[in-house]
Amino acid sequence: MATASADMPQYDFDYDGFITEVIPRVYRVRVPLPDNPLRELNSYFIVDDESTTIVDVGFDHPACEAALNAALDALGRTWDTVQIVLTHSHPDHTGNLDRIYRNGMRICANLHSFQEVENLQVMEAKVFQPLVRQAARPQDEGLSFEKGVPRLKLHAELLPLKHRPSVTYIEEGDTVSAGAYEFEVIETPGHDNWHICLYEPTTKTMIIGDHVLERITPAISSWFATHNALEEFMESLGKMNRYDVDLVLPAHGDPFTGLTNRVMHLKDHHEKRLEEIYELVAQGHHDIISISQNARWKYPDWCRWPLDQKYFSMAETMAHLVYLVCDGKIKQTICGDEYRFELPS
Ligand SMILES: [Zn+2]
Ligand SMILES: [Zn+2]
Repeated sequence: MATASADMPQYDFDYDGFITEVIPRVYRVRVPLPDNPLRELNSYFIVDDESTTIVDVGFDHPACEAALNAALDALGRTWDTVQIVLTHSHPDHTGNLDRIYRNGMRICANLHSFQEVENLQVMEAKVFQPLVRQAARPQDEGLSFEKGVPRLKLHAELLPLKHRPSVTYIEEGDTVSAGAYEFEVIETPGHDNWHICLYEPTTKTMIIGDHVLERITPAISSWFATHNALEEFMESLGKMNRYDVDLVLPAHGDPFTGLTNRVMHLKDHHEKRLEEIYELVAQGHHDIISISQNARWKYPDWCRWPLDQKYFSMAETMAHLVYLVCDGKIKQTICGDEYRFELPS
């Protein structure tokens, strides 16, 4: 699986290396994500004699730019031949565009423009800033006051692109030609509104972005009561069963096999979480902070968590609450500017 093709330079192709050929002329490049718990992003380079396709590009950070430059160099390529495909809008996948974009570069993604992403972020902030303020403790770092209004200084994960290059919109059923391959585009919203996977049938390979990771449960966030991200995610997980997949190429962690089992595990995880959140509402926890605080997390003592982690956990809790509301299991009312959740009478 990891043998270099005859006409390419030879590298140390093991998963510990910087570049690994995972299927013929498709290379996994390990891009560092400094100061981020994910540690690395996998960019996939798909090459033939004329073209280079790079799937996902890393943060807006010099280390990410240097990694892509080094990989191009090692593969004997230049930026003129490059097209970019983005699996989704998150800045560990897109932020580096601010650094690597060249005039005329083709960028394919399931979004019409980066403005869509920024619009959503502005709306999210309106809902979540008041919650973050309530959940903050006086000693919390990252909470600043701008014109008397408290704001959470967000990590790079949530920062929009400074520049917004134009994008070629790709959608379900389209194919992306990359090297010798034709990748089928599969829309997989849930982890992100604009998430896609890329399936290559001849080698039964799925470039899966953050949709399914082997060791991490991808974050599912809802920011509004009208956005049922978890239902979208569950449907997108179901779609994976339609494809015969031997090799999964994730955006974080090593390539893996056994997609069906991992999909089942993730479904099960969310079903258990839905039961738990329902129980918390039944026990009398009515607001997002109280429900998040009392839910089971990997790390105990929610009240002492850093503010940004609370922020993500509340968005995850909200995703489960919205699912239960849409399913008719709990009801939601709005009290002032706060959501309140209870069992139907
Ligand atoms: Zn992501
Ligand atoms: Zn990611």
